[in-house]
Amino acid sequence: MSRAYNFCAGPATLPEAVLKQAREEMLDWRGSGMSVMEMSHRSDEFVEIADTAERDFRELAGVSDDYAVLFMQGGASSQFATIPLNLLGDKTQADYVNTGIWSKKAIAEAARYAEVNVVATGADANFTSIPEQAGWKTNPNAAYLHYTPNETIGGVEFDFVPESGDVPLVADFSSSILSSPLDVSKFGLIYAGAQKNIGPSGLVVVIIRKDLLGKARDITPTMMNYQVIAENGSMYNTPATYSWYLAGLVFKWVKAQGGVEAMGQLNDRKARKLYDFIDGCDFYANPIDARFRSRMNVPFTLADDALNGDFLKGADQRGLLNLKGHRSVGGMRASIYNAMPEAGVDALIEYMAAFAEERG
Ligand code: PMP
Repeated sequence: MSRAYNFCAGPATLPEAVLKQAREEMLDWRGSGMSVMEMSHRSDEFVEIADTAERDFRELAGVSDDYAVLFMQGGASSQFATIPLNLLGDKTQADYVNTGIWSKKAIAEAARYAEVNVVATGADANFTSIPEQAGWKTNPNAAYLHYTPNETIGGVEFDFVPESGDVPLVADFSSSILSSPLDVSKFGLIYAGAQKNIGPSGLVVVIIRKDLLGKARDITPTMMNYQVIAENGSMYNTPATYSWYLAGLVFKWVKAQGGVEAMGQLNDRKARKLYDFIDGCDFYANPIDARFRSRMNVPFTLADDALNGDFLKGADQRGLLNLKGHRSVGGMRASIYNAMPEAGVDALIEYMAAFAEERG
């Protein structure tokens, strides 16, 4: 059976070359006589896998020695609590930008630990745009400023990095990490759930400026304490070894594609093609302010919702899978992360054009 084009928002499609390599190495990782899944995390073999993955990630993302890179567990959602528990220090307030569903989840969880100040919201525009920073009501006493660079469900993405002055900038890059070049030095903390551009779900990669370590509240669970995780090389307990290994294979793959610059160019091209097609065809629509359209997640609607079922059925038959929009939004959504080949986007456009022609 040939592989389908999987447009799922996450867990998302992985590079075929990575899956083939994992298959190749499944029973016997490079003469070790065992699968990576079966190795002690303290073994020389696994420590090499882990170190190589971290080194490659640092190189790809441009992470300097001023930052620790942590391979944690519990997905991006666990970071919603981990962040305030670790970064508030002796402060009580934190600033958050609300640009959609993932921002809201981060805000709701942080509000259990901090006085949350929502400095700006996209609510007035029904979350189809990003509020200009000039109008943000930031608080100089905030412990940090949190935002969501790419809203995976709404399909709205920042085209700028907010200025936060001396307040550490914290960003949930779950759905856009490694999708284009990024100046990490502007951030206090970056986190990303793995299941879009990195690897299997459950794993979450955290980049934290080292001066922000060591401020966790006493009640912070040990497994959520960044300093403990950093001091133990993300091996305070048994890490998600196989996910870490697969992430390492994905990092090698991204490097082989030419790194994040090349990924960024390809992602721009893929997204532009799809939006241009949607804009040029009366049958489809995308509601997002053109400046802030996501390069990773492209929601779209059909001229008549009653045709959604037929559209999805026809797509499935052509091996174009998981195009159904998030249950809270409806319509369709095509997630086109790093591992979605341009040919997948071309096949989707071809199908959309044929469907509109036939049913529009
Ligand atoms: N933040 C963003 C931007 C996401 O897209 C997601 C998952 N879709 C999450 C957080 C939550 O990730 P997880 O399911 O790994 O907790």
